[in-house]
Amino acid sequence: MSAPDESVVHGSKAVPKDLPSLDKLLRDCALLVAEHGHTLVANEARGLLDGLRARAVAGQLMRLELDALPQSLAARVQARLRPVMRVVLNLTGTVIHTNLGRALLADAALAQLLALMTAPNNLEFDLDAGGRGDRDTLIEALLCELTGAEAATVVNNNAAAVLLGIAALAGGREAIVSRGELVEIGGAFRMPDVMTAAGATLVEVGTTNRTHPRDYEQAITPRTGLIVKVHTSNYQVQGFTSAVSEAELAPIAHAASLPLMTDLGSGALVDMSAYGLPAEPMPQQMLKAGCDVVTFSGDKLLGGPQAGLIVGSRAAVSRIRKYPMKRALRLSKLPLAALEATLRLYLRPERLAQDLPTLRLLTRGQADIAALARHLLPDVAAAVAPRFTVEAVALQSQIGSGSLPVERLPSAGLAITAVDGRGRTLEALATALRGLSRPVIGRIQDDRLLLDMRCLEEPALLTAQLGLLKEALA
Ligand SMILES: *Cc1c(COP(=O)(O)O)cnc(C)c1O
Repeated sequence: MSAPDESVVHGSKAVPKDLPSLDKLLRDCALLVAEHGHTLVANEARGLLDGLRARAVAGQLMRLELDALPQSLAARVQARLRPVMRVVLNLTGTVIHTNLGRALLADAALAQLLALMTAPNNLEFDLDAGGRGDRDTLIEALLCELTGAEAATVVNNNAAAVLLGIAALAGGREAIVSRGELVEIGGAFRMPDVMTAAGATLVEVGTTNRTHPRDYEQAITPRTGLIVKVHTSNYQVQGFTSAVSEAELAPIAHAASLPLMTDLGSGALVDMSAYGLPAEPMPQQMLKAGCDVVTFSGDKLLGGPQAGLIVGSRAAVSRIRKYPMKRALRLSKLPLAALEATLRLYLRPERLAQDLPTLRLLTRGQADIAALARHLLPDVAAAVAPRFTVEAVALQSQIGSGSLPVERLPSAGLAITAVDGRGRTLEALATALRGLSRPVIGRIQDDRLLLDMRCLEEPALLTAQLGLLKEALA
């Protein structure tokens, strides 16, 4: 007589004793163990069996699922190995999106990373002299050539550049800033707090809307160490306003033997208006105007990796470089390699709008984007039907990352509306889009989910996922 068929006894439900032992499961999955080793596979097998046992006790486990145990285990192992930091599709319409990683690296920067990060390199080795070198020298000449500066250095990000610049140049004394420029960048980076952290005493001059040259002049005392200008990158004061330009301020600072530092935030190494984009102040202009130090970001309009660039006079940059905090804020070899390759692209300005992804996306024409939106419309409409309707619409993109906050770029995309007209349904769609293997990030505005196609350069990345989207919505 054969053993009684338990499925007859328990129907299609499985009970705890139907579960294989850990050893049996691992034997059944010998190939998986051979590939990944015992530790990870056994950990996941334990987790899998614990979960199934709990469901079996609750009478919720189907016998069918036991047959699929090896596949379930393999899927768990794969999921554990998949990084949580992933690529997404940025259809928000904001090109330099801080939450989505800001600037996309150029191919040249990626190639340089691949080549340099898997082998030893001359990060701090002087190949001519055959001895210890300085990582700053790898990019200093190039940065000086591009900006006209006498000297340059780089740190971890622009926030670090500002902090370090103030700490090194104000030297525990007073730093004068206009009230109209006491900005908060976000992430708790507020100018008054940065001053305190840098050991400088903030001296505010002028008013929120108007600051004059005499305000600075009258605030200068023997205790003053530095005058700071901050580009109001993420807001604009309009109406009855006046600010003192770097060109007006430099003679005032220098007459008192004080350095003038300006924080540009994004900054741009080329004239953005030449590309039909809103003008953004350039470090080279600020140096010409007489600034001793200019700081700006590597991953905003510059289009490179996270970095803080510091350019200026030899005397000022040398003080910054020697300041002890510099060592703690220095740039690592990864961004340094990517930054050098990115900066070299600026030697060929005619090709920049092709070579630099950020500039390529910012200069994409509306007609081109609108054609893409119309092309995608039928497939997207089919995927979200019948609960949603879709139309191709004109949209306004933003540059992002605090650059030029009031300027908009004419763009286009798809607007998705819930047929039942309720906001919750739209949230469910946004959630389903974020749940795709390459999450799609749009924006909800006026009861519509908007997908701005400006940053979609490979439409197949979206269309290939529409089947899964339809399933998720079913
Ligand atoms: C963005 C910004 C910063 C900070 O730059 P990070 O590179 O993000 O550290 C500082 N100042 C201004 C004016 C900015 O716009």
